[in-house]
Amino acid sequence: MSRLLIRNGTIIDPSQGIHRAMDLLVEDGKISALKARIDASDVEIIDASGLHVAPGFIDIHTHLREPGGEGSETIETGTRAAAAGGFTTIYCMPNTTPVCDSETGVQYVLSRAASHGCINVVPVAAITKGMQGEELTNFGRLMNCGAGAFSDDGRPVMNAEIMRRALEYTKLLGIPLFEHCEDMNLTAEGHMNEGVVSARLGIKGIPRVSESVMVSRNCALAAATGGHLHVCHVSTRESVDAIREARRNGVHVTAEVSPHHLTMTEEAVIGYNTNAKMKPPLCEKADRDALIVALEDGTIDCIATDHAPHSAQAKDNVFDAAPFGIIGMETAFPVLYTSFVVTKRWTLDFLVEKMTTGPARVMNREWGTLRPGVAADFTLLELGKSAKFEQRHIFSKSKNCPWVGATMKARIAATFVNGKQVFQHPDLVAPSSPVGDVAKPRERKAAKA
Ligand SMILES: [Zn+2]
Ligand SMILES: [Zn+2]
Repeated sequence: MSRLLIRNGTIIDPSQGIHRAMDLLVEDGKISALKARIDASDVEIIDASGLHVAPGFIDIHTHLREPGGEGSETIETGTRAAAAGGFTTIYCMPNTTPVCDSETGVQYVLSRAASHGCINVVPVAAITKGMQGEELTNFGRLMNCGAGAFSDDGRPVMNAEIMRRALEYTKLLGIPLFEHCEDMNLTAEGHMNEGVVSARLGIKGIPRVSESVMVSRNCALAAATGGHLHVCHVSTRESVDAIREARRNGVHVTAEVSPHHLTMTEEAVIGYNTNAKMKPPLCEKADRDALIVALEDGTIDCIATDHAPHSAQAKDNVFDAAPFGIIGMETAFPVLYTSFVVTKRWTLDFLVEKMTTGPARVMNREWGTLRPGVAADFTLLELGKSAKFEQRHIFSKSKNCPWVGATMKARIAATFVNGKQVFQHPDLVAPSSPVGDVAKPRERKAAKA
């Protein structure tokens, strides 16, 4: 039996209301005990003094680009980026080449994740064949071979009848539809939020109503069918209002918000910064404020990164020609910790909750906990010390990150999946022995600066 003891850390587990110094024992890849002090023999010991031990983060919205986009990301590099961000389970969107709309597509992602990935990967399959918005995929079959949700992310389902039937089928299967809410006739050829800043920069704008009109339509369809609608990357205050109203009326709608929409506004585009170009676009301060309040009052359930890798060649372009999207897994926790916990707007417990049990609840899974018996997926966090985030800290194959050069007050020291270490921060002292070697009891420092 392999045994690993994480000693002297501060356990932070919102699922059990725990935030105090405790030891954590892992046996055969599962958490077996969580107590004030654990004395065990024949066990490998990691000294987590000065570190927090949290359940592994869950990201229900990422793009891993494989197959077809290996120039910007692969399942191998994408899962390494996730581990570097403290994530142990991620969902990956189907807008690859080919689109993940078949059993072969789902099986391909799962087999590549098993052979080349270092964390848990759940494939999201397409709602419609080829994401063309015309013909539904075979939800039952795709789910049976491992699809965890359905989405045409990047290409909204414009046809309301298709959306209605998709919600009806997924209701029978008890699985959510992740919907990228955008009316493409309204967004047309826009590249950023439509307003004063877009006018000043001479960039064609995207009207904010392009999102909320689809959020409202989809909430109405969820109400009519009883299906579970999950709204991806909410970005405007009107969308927040529509979701709040629907929830008040008992509609099964959940929602996510990205770290960039919580921390940045359209002002970031000034200077034609293509790393501030994404869909939905960054909006106004009033929108950002509404998103923060909505996360706080539970209207928005969780944080999801919408990690969207694009090569330097693609992003290093004139603003109008650059693709939409930024990467975000490595920086999600450090950016949010620095912006909201250091400033005392949120507690650490709140932030961890929105990255663990929040997404787990959307998926109706018992994840994001350190309860004995579950898989030992956890992350060690170094909090409170200032450190500059540099390009060399990016494990993603793409570097389209707006936070390179920013000073952050949190670092992911190490990440474990099924009790195995899958990430060690390059600037923190590495463990002195490989995980899993239990020949002799030994002590090692996990990650002291
Ligand atoms: Zn999207
Ligand atoms: Zn996306």
